[in-house]
Amino acid sequence: MKTRIKKITNVKLDNDAVREAGKILKEGGLVAFPTETVYGLGADALNARAAEKIYAAKGRPSDNPLIIHIAHMDALGRIVSDIPEQAHALAGAFWPGPITMIFNKAECVPYGTTGGLDTVAVRMPDHETARAVIDAGGGYIAAPSANTSGRPSPTMAEHVREDLEGKIDMIVDGGSVEIGVESTILDLTVTPPMILRPGAVTKEMLEGILGEVAEDKALLGADSKEAPKAPGMKYRHYAPKAKLSVVEGQTEQVIREINRLSREKEEEGSRVGIIGTEETVGRYDCGLVKCIGTRQDEATVASRLYAILREFDGEDVEYIFSESFSGDGIGSAVMNRLLKAAGHHVIHT
Ligand code: AMP
Ligand code: MG
Repeated sequence: MKTRIKKITNVKLDNDAVREAGKILKEGGLVAFPTETVYGLGADALNARAAEKIYAAKGRPSDNPLIIHIAHMDALGRIVSDIPEQAHALAGAFWPGPITMIFNKAECVPYGTTGGLDTVAVRMPDHETARAVIDAGGGYIAAPSANTSGRPSPTMAEHVREDLEGKIDMIVDGGSVEIGVESTILDLTVTPPMILRPGAVTKEMLEGILGEVAEDKALLGADSKEAPKAPGMKYRHYAPKAKLSVVEGQTEQVIREINRLSREKEEEGSRVGIIGTEETVGRYDCGLVKCIGTRQDEATVASRLYAILREFDGEDVEYIFSESFSGDGIGSAVMNRLLKAAGHHVIHT
């Protein structure tokens, strides 16, 4: 299959490309497009055969349900069996934006889209091009991250091309995404509502609207014996080719330990990558050092995380040592993804 790649920077000026994407989606094809979180791989969510193609292109396990993307609030009623009051409040505060809500599904949503579940995940992205493509494609677009299953999620069109060229009909290139980690997932079918995946909409922000909010215990880490409630969270994910370790502790000790470990590996003849920050990169004296962002603003770290993991894949390093992050605000999404990428391999100093 030949994959068409089209740039869309302005949905009015590039309307031909939007229409082309819409036509492919309506005919049951696959179109990758940018959102504010990561690039999504879109298909008509109400067409089971189209949704099935997503699993084949990504190599995604078929029990891992897809998120349906909508462009307007009035689209929600058709795909869910009821809209709880809390959803209106959350949508008012955060939609369009990086939060996915889980509802009981309406009959028209095929089990092929929900991985066999009676619930459905829905999000309205805060991205003009994404919403234009969703509209043009019929209004209900299933769109998981546009990567091969198990690789870091794509934050630019080039990442999508690396993984999916020849397997999908079209890639809409809208430049780099803004946030860089996937949406927060909140289950509204349980009381109190439960966070199944941390993202840019934080627990504190949700509590501000809802009061009590629970967190899936399986998010706590490798020690948890529980299976995650979002089926996709159980898979090793976001994994770089190298063995990634996260080094925790006070900054000075972390720098010393990363230098020591890196030197040790280099002396054994291995190639080593280091993930540091603007505040610390000058302090490493060996390895291939990359700056992930500034500790002053961990949103910068979120936006670089996946791209850095992919860069290291391209540079054939065998070991990566990363500093760790706060775990507060967007830092909790960063740590969740980083620890998963590391297979929860943590070194305490
Ligand atoms: P992705 O779109 O690749 O970021 O993955 C979507 C995530 O949403 C996966 O972790 C899924 O398991 C999760 N998800 C989608 N639908 C549901 C649902 N109905 N219940 C629980 N988790 C869901
Ligand atoms: Mg994904």
